[in-house]
Amino acid sequence: MSDPTRPHGARIIAVANQKGGVGKTTTAINLGAGLAKIGKKVLLVDLDPQGNASTGLGVDSDRRKFTTYDLLLGDTSLQDVVQKTELKRLSIIPATTDLSSADIELYSNEKRLFLLHDALRQRAIDGFGFDYILIDCPPSLNLLTVNAMVAAHSVLVPLQSEFFALEGLSQLMLTIREVRQTANKNLRIEGVVLTMYDSRNNLSRQVENDARENLGDLVFKTVIPRNVRVSEAPSFAMPVLDYDPTSKGSQAYRALASELSKRHKLVKA
Ligand code: ADP
Ligand code: MG
Repeated sequence: MSDPTRPHGARIIAVANQKGGVGKTTTAINLGAGLAKIGKKVLLVDLDPQGNASTGLGVDSDRRKFTTYDLLLGDTSLQDVVQKTELKRLSIIPATTDLSSADIELYSNEKRLFLLHDALRQRAIDGFGFDYILIDCPPSLNLLTVNAMVAAHSVLVPLQSEFFALEGLSQLMLTIREVRQTANKNLRIEGVVLTMYDSRNNLSRQVENDARENLGDLVFKTVIPRNVRVSEAPSFAMPVLDYDPTSKGSQAYRALASELSKRHKLVKA
């Protein structure tokens, strides 16, 4: 039975952008931490074979016996794949390089587009009581990313505040449209969040203006500044919210969590 205090179950959000290094993993970790800190139960699904989200949250390789790969294959129980992190209310399904072969191996599977969907929409997930499931996608529009888009209610797009940032978006939007037409007609765009923003830099401001002009309300009011504490935190295996709670990066991710959750107005117990 679904939880009566969460009539809609978990909101599943794919954090995607086919460009590498734009802040997907950083956003998945720190938005997840921000949501957990305002009382939401959050699951982060590491869908990148590089496993950066797993490392960044301190899941060492010896604790990656069961991974997202097992989740996709569907032969391992959720109890085994879902792990707690140091942060209360934040859980993770870690990834290893196994996942890179999944992209190829799964092509012969006729349900290949729906593996993550079926895994995350199974009844047993209700027992965990997650409010949010964030999927950290790999830097490509491959089968893994399409699985995330098919499984998700929405896509959250980190956009690095640099030249050409908006150009990559059209390809991403095209993929979202294709997924809507084929496998997930209700897929929405959760929003676009500007990352690594430098207010002293004209280019950052120009990217922001262009994004707001072209995408309007889809762009989050919260902007994530470039902040060295954000980039240091993963090597201490913590979200920046714990590594340096008063840093600008930490404040921004808390604001993003609050902006996102206000949009949803989830029913609280
Ligand atoms: P992606 O997952 O899209 O490949 P990452 O989240 O791994 O991108 O970020 C790429 C690099 O940029 C990482 O080294 C990360 O620490 C750094 N980074 C991300 N966001 C910020 C930020 N707001 N300020 C400073 N460095 C950042
Ligand atoms: Mg990443």
